[in-house]
Amino acid sequence: MNIILLGPPGAGKGTQARKLVDERGMIQLSTGDMLREARTSGTEMGKRVAAIMDAGELVTDEIVIGLIEEKIQGDNGGGFIFDGFPRTLGQADALGDLLAKYKQHLDHVIEMRVDDTALVNRIVGRFTCGNCGEVYHKDTKPTKKDGVCDVCGSEDLKHRADDNEESLRTRLMEYYKKTSPLIGYYYANGKLSSVNGLAEIDKVASSIAAILD
Ligand code: ADP
Ligand code: ADP
Ligand code: ZN
Repeated sequence: MNIILLGPPGAGKGTQARKLVDERGMIQLSTGDMLREARTSGTEMGKRVAAIMDAGELVTDEIVIGLIEEKIQGDNGGGFIFDGFPRTLGQADALGDLLAKYKQHLDHVIEMRVDDTALVNRIVGRFTCGNCGEVYHKDTKPTKKDGVCDVCGSEDLKHRADDNEESLRTRLMEYYKKTSPLIGYYYANGKLSSVNGLAEIDKVASSIAAILD
């Protein structure tokens, strides 16, 4: 089963994707994570996209489509979770073509509905484990022990440079202009379901499970 998690920055896509990986053996394909990895490994592409990401703008369709194509050629395990992709109509069309090319099928697009006022707090309080990628929040999902990842014990906990109010404003504008039209696009082809992303993490997970089962 292949699914898309759709929603603005801070909606909880990454948090829910990780649960689906743990519970169902699905494979998380986060273009944000892939781009951040390219930056730290210092590739040409990584250098090119760094300033765009810091500003909160979208990188070109061509780059992210290339990253996704590399990943979906392999084994899809319990299915792919597209997290943060597609983000434009061009990317959505390209994903449709790629899935057809590799004989895959899109099962569900899950829109995570949140209201903007909650997002500032979600984004400024977010931190992640640099070792295993677990996502935390200073108020809603703190580590059990201060400064130590619950999952892997690493002390390498990081706050993203683009997780500030100014970049969030740009990211939200990008979302409304370029990504939110995908809600209509997937509604029209019968794939769309919506969940309340403002509920507690486990409640959101149950709503998603109800759609998948
Ligand atoms: P996205 O991948 O959509 O940008 P994340 O999954 O990284 O969002 O979540 C953003 C922040 O909000 C993180 O700090 C995360 O711990 C927190 N968070 C995620 N889901 C919830 C929720 N349902 N309730 C409260 N906080 C949440
Ligand atoms: P968020 O937590 O805000 O949902 P992501 O980690 O998904 O953020 O993405 C971080 C940044 O990476 C975006 O602001 C954008 O610059 C770039 N990016 C990620 N995915 C895409 C995509 N599918 N298309 C264009 N740019 C992307
Ligand atoms: Zn960790």
